[in-house]
Amino acid sequence: MVNSLRTKLSMSYVIAAVIIVFLINALTNLFVVEHFREYVNENQQLRNKEIVATLAAQYKGNDNWNIDSVASIGESYLINGIIIKVKDINGKTLWDAKEHNNGMCQQIIEHMAANSNGIAGSKEAKYTEVPYSLYNNLNKVGVVEIGTYGPNYLNEHDKAFIDAFNNVLIGVGLFSLVFALILGWIMSRWLSSPISRVISAAKSISKGYYSERINRISNTTEINELTSTVNQLAESLEKQEALRKRLTGDVAHELRTPLATLQSHMEAMIDGIWEADAERLKSCHEEIVRISKMVGDLEKLTKYEGDKPVLDKELFDIAELAKRLIQNFESQFLNKGLNIEFIGDSTEINADRDKISQVIINLLSNALKYTPVGGLVKVVIKSDPNDVILAIKDNGPGIPGEDLPYIFERFYRADKSRNRLTGGSGIGLTISKAIVAAHGGSIGVQSSPDTGTEFTVTLPKLKA
Ligand code: ADP
Repeated sequence: MVNSLRTKLSMSYVIAAVIIVFLINALTNLFVVEHFREYVNENQQLRNKEIVATLAAQYKGNDNWNIDSVASIGESYLINGIIIKVKDINGKTLWDAKEHNNGMCQQIIEHMAANSNGIAGSKEAKYTEVPYSLYNNLNKVGVVEIGTYGPNYLNEHDKAFIDAFNNVLIGVGLFSLVFALILGWIMSRWLSSPISRVISAAKSISKGYYSERINRISNTTEINELTSTVNQLAESLEKQEALRKRLTGDVAHELRTPLATLQSHMEAMIDGIWEADAERLKSCHEEIVRISKMVGDLEKLTKYEGDKPVLDKELFDIAELAKRLIQNFESQFLNKGLNIEFIGDSTEINADRDKISQVIINLLSNALKYTPVGGLVKVVIKSDPNDVILAIKDNGPGIPGEDLPYIFERFYRADKSRNRLTGGSGIGLTISKAIVAAHGGSIGVQSSPDTGTEFTVTLPKLKA
């Protein structure tokens, strides 16, 4: 059965209260009432001894039974609800409460029966007259029979005490129930209202309101964790959404120019304004190559950006990898009249070899593209106990200060006119940054027109 947290908490409090009240009742009845009954029986014994002592004292005073004194003692007990019958040593009745006032005796017996009703063990209770011998100086002088209702007879005071006691227990029980209900209600409100807040925020997020955040801090650890998890979820959805929008916008923007150029060139040729000669077709072909390179780069970028890219890590020597990649580039560097140097010792690293190759290739090809003829490119590998630092430095024209903060952004090109010539799409550094970040590393740049540009990649060495 599906119930709200509020109902469940309130119910559990009530059930706990009922069980506790029931146990308290059972235990108090078991111990307190039992002890009280012993106390009542002891009281009865004391009262009986007192009756015997009073009658014996009367005999002793007169050295014989004085009928009037015995009668006045019997009457005073009868007024107090005690039925007695006094006999002398020969069994002759001296005073009998029933003979004296039978109606009153019957009333007393009925009253005693009524007082015993409803008390545990009262079923076997009945009226008996218990005989007690009366002595004068160790000589038996008579017998007194005391009317007793038992076992478990309670007199007025005893009964009042038990009733009051039971009333207190009932009161405590009722109070506990009401208290449990109120406490359950307060607790459930206290717990469920932050959960309701999380639910309503999650509903808004699911409807696409990714900027929704839960700002209230709860003093319950789990609720705080839940809140921050939902906030993180919203934040990551918001980022993804922004990334998606930006990507779509950027792609449309980047493709518009080459497509428009292509379209106008083609139309001019179709309309016969331009002749479809080799040079014009070559220019169109170059635009198409640019577009397909951009699409290829975008494909790579979506793989590395956004969701965490899957890394296929292995242990390898990054210095050896860098040397091999430099060799691949060697002829292109020679053709452009550039020098390339490598400094570094073999250094083991736990990383995705293919993706790190991609980073080195991007940085080398940038150095190749942007360093003018006669320039020098240095590749340095250093390491400290935790990190490997790969630096690729050229003595080219540098990157203008105002462009530096943006060069890692998608489609950002520092020098648009020169980039048209170099064919850069402004995605290479974005891809490199995403790969390095996925490895838990960082990439930085230092550049000035005098000294050239230096890219520094820091990667954790052996992080699993
Ligand atoms: P691109 O495909 O245009 O080279 P990148 O993301 O690799 O894209 O680089 C972004 C921009 O940063 C480049 O367009 C260029 O203006 C600048 N840049 C990158 N590397 C260098 C470098 N070594 N020297 C000068 N400018 C550079």
